[in-house]
Amino acid sequence: MTQINHNYTLLQGSYLFSEIAKRRTKFMQDNPNAQIISLGIGDVTRGLPDAITKAMHDAVDELSNPSTFRGYGPEQGYDFLINDIINNDYKARGIDIATNEVFVSDGSKCDVGNIQEIFSQDAVIAVQDPVYPVYVDTNVMAGRSGKFNKETNQYENIVYLKCDASNNFTPSLPDRKVDLIYLCYPNNPTGMTLSKEELKRWVDFAKANDCIILYDSAYEAFIQEADVPRSIYEIEGAKEVAIEFRSFSKTAGFTGVRCAYTVVPRELKAKDADGNAVLVNDLWNRRHTTKFNGVSYVTQRGAAAIYTPEGKAQIASIIDYYMTNAGIIREGLASLGLEVFGGVNAPYIWLKTPNGLDSWAFFDKLLSEANIVGTPGVGFGQAGQGYFRLTAFGSRENTEKAVERITKLSL
Ligand code: PLP
Repeated sequence: MTQINHNYTLLQGSYLFSEIAKRRTKFMQDNPNAQIISLGIGDVTRGLPDAITKAMHDAVDELSNPSTFRGYGPEQGYDFLINDIINNDYKARGIDIATNEVFVSDGSKCDVGNIQEIFSQDAVIAVQDPVYPVYVDTNVMAGRSGKFNKETNQYENIVYLKCDASNNFTPSLPDRKVDLIYLCYPNNPTGMTLSKEELKRWVDFAKANDCIILYDSAYEAFIQEADVPRSIYEIEGAKEVAIEFRSFSKTAGFTGVRCAYTVVPRELKAKDADGNAVLVNDLWNRRHTTKFNGVSYVTQRGAAAIYTPEGKAQIASIIDYYMTNAGIIREGLASLGLEVFGGVNAPYIWLKTPNGLDSWAFFDKLLSEANIVGTPGVGFGQAGQGYFRLTAFGSRENTEKAVERITKLSL
């Protein structure tokens, strides 16, 4: 028989979400009349803004006419969208990004998962703990992780940067040589951000230690506070050391439509086996054009509508809706004396479980006593033990109901 990639056997499976589904299903079987509210999912619920659906309808009509039909487009994305991205997300903030530095894709999950492919098999990976699991699992698949240690809940060759209340969720710089550092801000799952000064420490570290930062900014659109950096390229010198990932999924309801982009600056270099400098942009371009055939024209027209005045206004109102939910959860829980984090510049609220309960014990309590489903923090990494994630993506009615139910619990 043909052998499999044995690295796949090192994966820990999708334990988190399958275990959540299992416990929820069991509870519903035992309590068929319970009205469950889910504040666990990281998916949006408000629907696409009209400006976007209108642009997509128009694009569909164009495709039905042979004179305006489009087949394969440029793998990197159409200029109309790339120019909108550059002008609105970068130039407007004083950041210079060139058209050949932007790669449009069908999602940040694919980009943050695929990026590791262009780096050496020996590259040492650093991740925040707790972490968006895709960064870890894709490196496990690629053979960089070493074995999983069930006692520490960690892979032996991955460097984990602890983020908890003791360091205000600001990871310490790695204490050994690493090659790739995944940073996610605003953070999933903690909902926390880094200040400009803190982000500068990372850029300076990467420059001084020859490593590359993979900066996942999927929740940038949720930033409310003026002094929180919206792009790593706001930091001087970051273009020499960082790749930035942005997604339209949460920004504009594109979780099902699928569109995102990645910026790989031409200044960013890595080395080949002989120690010669290589442009990372060339490698990513090669990978992207070889393995990807472009995002559909209809989708890219929809994405471009995000940057029109109507699109911007409609998106702002949806983000405001979610962030109002976040405030309701945050303030509601804080008023009960719970320790809550995040939810100010991100749609995630990260709370310390009360009375020293572990994450899963709190999950069970919330499910059985308040009929609310959330996400146990330990599912994102060992440093998430004793924490719990709630999301602001539900309806207003369910969000308010959920907080009211939690208020009635004995905590
Ligand atoms: N990065 C982070 C941190 C996320 O939380 C998510 C989605 O939950 C993604 C990337 C995936 O984004 P996309 O829908 O563009 O694949």
